[in-house]
Amino acid sequence: MQLFDLTGKRALVTGASGGLGQAMAVGLAEAGADIIAVSSSESRETVDQIRSLGREAHFIAADLSKEELLEGVVSEALRLSGGIDILINNAGIIRRMPAADHKRQDWHDVMALNLDAVFFLCQLVGSHMLQRGNGKIINIASMLSYQGGINVPGYTASKHGIAGITKALANEWAGSGIHINAIAPGYMTTNNTAPIIADEKRYNSITERIPAGRWGKPDDLKGPAIFLASSASDYMNGHVLCVDGGWMAR
Ligand code: NAD
Repeated sequence: MQLFDLTGKRALVTGASGGLGQAMAVGLAEAGADIIAVSSSESRETVDQIRSLGREAHFIAADLSKEELLEGVVSEALRLSGGIDILINNAGIIRRMPAADHKRQDWHDVMALNLDAVFFLCQLVGSHMLQRGNGKIINIASMLSYQGGINVPGYTASKHGIAGITKALANEWAGSGIHINAIAPGYMTTNNTAPIIADEKRYNSITERIPAGRWGKPDDLKGPAIFLASSASDYMNGHVLCVDGGWMAR
């Protein structure tokens, strides 16, 4: 299992206070990594779970949609950890509204966090990884990196953008030892999807279309995150890995 061993690695995970980010942060810690969790909301539960595994955990509170804060977040993460080997750009929001009524502020809020912050964090952490000549970056994409979705045009645009920058940066950085890939989760039970889960008709019609016959749980992302963060994926660059119970195969 050495291929998947993350002992001694330091991972910065955004949006790790709950949902998918929490599960991936804890998953990396189970594989041996120390974690810097960055979130706009309290992450005590995540930090406690990681420390109970005997790993180091730090929390940085920050609203990552504020571009001017990003440089400080990365400096603080480097100060706390001494280095960043793994970056998971997971923090993301969704605003549901038909395209014709989609507010400009909603569009800008979604883009600021889901796309701008991801690119700038890739740049800031990537420059440090480039100096060292190694690093693993995992961006969290979506089925809406491929499909159009309904009533979420800003979100769809941001997640198509995630697939694009993941490939663009892989082309530039793969030769310098930086692995940048993405995970595209299918329908997972978190706060992000709570309104769909509450709509019984929509929930059932989605479940029926999933070949695996069930929605994903946050823990379903632990394995894929460990894989893309570890040397098990050392010949993977610019890939968007669907973890979707077969949704995209249908
Ligand atoms: P969630 O709402 O449960 O968690 C989002 C996390 O992001 C939280 O930790 C929250 O504190 C943090 N966050 C929100 N706004 C922030 C900000 N401005 N600055 C810093 N942190 C902020 O959602 P989730 O379902 O766990 O989503 C995580 C990622 O997975 C998102 O990028 C989302 O688009 C993506 N995704 C989710 C699903 C799904 O079905 N749940 C499917 C595909 C992709």
